[in-house]
Amino acid sequence: MGLIMKTIFRNGKIYTMKNQETVNNPLQAMVVKDDYILDLGTEQYIMGKYLNNKCRVVDLREKTVIPGFNDAHLHIYQYALSNSKIRLNAVTGIEDISRRIKNYIKDRNIVPGKWIEGSGWNDKDFTTPGLPEKEELDLIAPENPLILKRACYHVALVNTRALEICQIDKKTPDPAGGKIERDNQGSPTGVLYDDAIDLVENKIPQKNIKQTKELLQQGFEAAARTGLSSLQTDDFLNIKDPSIILQAYQELAEENKLPLRINLQLRVNQAEEIIKFSRQGIKTGRGNIFFKYGPIKIIADGSLGACTAALRQPYFNKSTKGDLLLSQTDLNRLVSTAYKEDCQVAVHAIGDAAVEMAANSFSRIKTINNPRPIIVHAQLGSPSIYQKMARNKVIAAVQPIFLATDWPIIEDRVGTDRSFHSYAWQSMQQSGIKICGSSDAPIEPFNPLYGIYAAVTRHDLAGNPQGGWHPAEQLSVYDAVKIFTVNPAYQSFEEGIKGTLEIGKLADFTVLSEDIFHLDREKIKDITILGTYVGGKAVYKAKT
Ligand SMILES: [Zn+2]
Repeated sequence: MGLIMKTIFRNGKIYTMKNQETVNNPLQAMVVKDDYILDLGTEQYIMGKYLNNKCRVVDLREKTVIPGFNDAHLHIYQYALSNSKIRLNAVTGIEDISRRIKNYIKDRNIVPGKWIEGSGWNDKDFTTPGLPEKEELDLIAPENPLILKRACYHVALVNTRALEICQIDKKTPDPAGGKIERDNQGSPTGVLYDDAIDLVENKIPQKNIKQTKELLQQGFEAAARTGLSSLQTDDFLNIKDPSIILQAYQELAEENKLPLRINLQLRVNQAEEIIKFSRQGIKTGRGNIFFKYGPIKIIADGSLGACTAALRQPYFNKSTKGDLLLSQTDLNRLVSTAYKEDCQVAVHAIGDAAVEMAANSFSRIKTINNPRPIIVHAQLGSPSIYQKMARNKVIAAVQPIFLATDWPIIEDRVGTDRSFHSYAWQSMQQSGIKICGSSDAPIEPFNPLYGIYAAVTRHDLAGNPQGGWHPAEQLSVYDAVKIFTVNPAYQSFEEGIKGTLEIGKLADFTVLSEDIFHLDREKIKDITILGTYVGGKAVYKAKT
């Protein structure tokens, strides 16, 4: 092995993604040395120049090669964690929930007293409207504390046992950034919103370092299967002690056990946490080519599905406008503290009030050199908000796959007029905003091909609605691939080493079963990932 200096990947259809033109001019061969691309070009050129007995040669069998996918925002640890819990996707109501939990208790021999955790329910799938309350959950497993999170993670249902253990009662005040739903006597009903969920979450025994590392590895393995070579992940979501996550990543990096390239987004609530991280050397860009600290992540509102995203005008046919989880002044302070500490900032903002507030904060940091501020989600905006974002060079990390889930409820939430400014990626792009693609997994599956499909067709995965939802906002296939490759590399300040396939860049690439650029758009979601390569080494290969 020591003699092998270079690997030649030949006989492929290599799309470098350097520019739009490259979509019509694929190359055939690429030489990789020590993680990096040494050269690429036509079959004849590469084979003529490099082939000798010291080379390993890989035949790409005329398959399509594109830069490795990069998810600009997800929660890989929570993805792995949710796989170890009860999945409640597509449950139709309390009977369905009850049946799944009872099966889970039986299958896994869950003893009384042990926490039962589930996630993925969505009340839009319920046959009877409204959320189940604690009395209904108490019938399922009265001796086990129970917490069931909505698909968006902004709402949780808990039973009486969980409320008792967490000492949440009439006298418990709503925490900052959260709400405990109460009956007319003031007693908790078992429905918790946003940061109130942490009151319960913090009492659930946390995984130790070893378990955390194992879960992360499971997450990376699953991500590699979908062609992802880079992940920008916020893993502090609902985590009591982020130091365990930080240590797990540091150990995996030191042990060279990270198969994918990780950019860890650092969720904070207070300016003091930013300063504390910074003093420990935990700040944007520090690290190596496998593990880097990413932006400071701040949450400004909830979700559209749960009507907790902050809107400028009330929800359609409702009096509520949702809630901002912090004030403009608070956000300004967090943003300026982060940039003072040389950190990039990503703000979770879904409703137009939150998106506007984030854009306002970012407009105050003009003096900072190259800040690349990020708004994660930016689901509802307006032409003037998009202009403000573009003026301040705000990156939008959007989730095309959300459209597949949300299109049937958007008009119900915001009415027809505002629906035209929802998930409006073509408009955003035309305003000059750089868009990055992401999944927000485990909220949605992280397969980037689903995201690309949704961005291109504006369909859900069953192909609905016909013609696409607000089809004027469709992206071209090139642009849709770009938001999952080129642009996320820019988001993490790594456009010099990844995002496109060019000499001197990392040999991170994905092999597809079909030529995504010359394929019926409806078939994009069915493309198979044949291989995922990081630094020229296969981290996933499909069985053939
Ligand atoms: Zn998220």
